[in-house]
Amino acid sequence: MSTNTPTPGGPSLPQERRLVTAIPGPKSQELQARKTAAVASGVGTTLPVYITAAGGGVLVDVDGNSLIDLGSGIAVTTVGNSAPRVVQAVQDQVAAFTHTCFMVTPYAGYVEVAEALNRLTPGDHEKRTALFNSGAEAVENAVKIARTHTKKTGVVVFDHAYHGRTNLTMAMTAKSMPYKSGFGPFASDVYRAPLSYPFRDDQLDGATAAARAIDVIEKQVGADNLAALVIEPIQGEGGFIVPAAGFLPALQDWCTANNVVFIADEVQTGFARTGAMFAVDHDQVVPDIIVTAKGIAGGLPLSAVTGRTEMMDSAHVGGLGGTYGGNPLACAAALAVLETIEADGLVDRAAKIGSLMTSRLHALQERDSRLGDVRGRGAMIAVELVKAGTTEPDADLTKQVAAAAHQAGVVVLTCGTYGNVLRFLPPLSISDELLEDACNVLDDVFAATK
Ligand SMILES: *Cc1c(COP(=O)(O)O)cnc(C)c1O
Repeated sequence: MSTNTPTPGGPSLPQERRLVTAIPGPKSQELQARKTAAVASGVGTTLPVYITAAGGGVLVDVDGNSLIDLGSGIAVTTVGNSAPRVVQAVQDQVAAFTHTCFMVTPYAGYVEVAEALNRLTPGDHEKRTALFNSGAEAVENAVKIARTHTKKTGVVVFDHAYHGRTNLTMAMTAKSMPYKSGFGPFASDVYRAPLSYPFRDDQLDGATAAARAIDVIEKQVGADNLAALVIEPIQGEGGFIVPAAGFLPALQDWCTANNVVFIADEVQTGFARTGAMFAVDHDQVVPDIIVTAKGIAGGLPLSAVTGRTEMMDSAHVGGLGGTYGGNPLACAAALAVLETIEADGLVDRAAKIGSLMTSRLHALQERDSRLGDVRGRGAMIAVELVKAGTTEPDADLTKQVAAAAHQAGVVVLTCGTYGNVLRFLPPLSISDELLEDACNVLDDVFAATK
């Protein structure tokens, strides 16, 4: 029997940080004990507070604590949890019909999402879209499409890349622990090239970093064998690495000249997150294919592959799809998300959040040389932590700071190949007051972990 009666969330929840128990509180601890006894241990939890309601910039737990959300469920609830338009659209849709399978008897919502993505994604060329459930599934389909289009098989990905947890995307993901270790053998014909990582490659300029990557690709794979180059315009799990200016355009030019499909994995960066609708917009890059998920539907499972018509239509009829892909509830939510981004000016809001948080973090960095690098774009912000005054990664400090922030009621996430990056992905519905409060907590936490 369910003990989890839903309570109303959304932006009308009190927007405050309020702790009434230790974190996690007794009810969360009880649930965590049941989780341990019922859920496979491979499914970990960053912060075991059990949520009953969320919205605006807060998460409310079963013990009555209200925490500041700087994670958005990993860049998913960009428009806020239970955003009003999303709630209304999903309620209307769930009462009308829940599923028919678009591949059997279709419905308008799917077509409308495809039309919107064709319009909103970079480039004014003719496009087509296909919908799926998860980011990894969309990445896999983008590779399938690139292979049928080019009649080649190789795939190039980058150092520190994260593309998912399915078999092909595990091969494409860089980091072994926890994503790959023990789960092989992996899909073949996937090759890794060096990234532009300004903090760790002596600020190598973008053109030089691209030439270095292209040299590896040409020598170790060869354009004649290569179907696609897949890249996150700003790496997510790999550490919020913003490549040097010119890196992405040079790679795109090389792809175009060599009949290699340039695929932007915007699963984490998409939909206003970076202060642009898509992160490639910052570099005026127009990908052949763009992969989206996470922020697309306010928390309902949906992903998409959008690309040039001649590429997208290279797969035979019936070659793309899936039972749930473009589920009607998820499509209704996505349309409401896109409307919310526009109506609430969330692209600008992301940029504003970015300048507020980065100026606070830069001020902290002035006082504390363990903050090696403050970087990101818009509301996708990270701090890379190092041993004071060096570039040596400090994963222990990162764990300590994250744990202390959690204790103080601020949900932060970590990432990075070296486990030394604190990342901030606030919902764009968060208030300036909550952001300032969260930054004050971070100031205190760093001061206390001297
Ligand atoms: C999260 C993520 C994925 C995988 O998405 P899932 O929905 O978890 O399968 C792929 N690429 C990037 C860049 C991601 O951040």
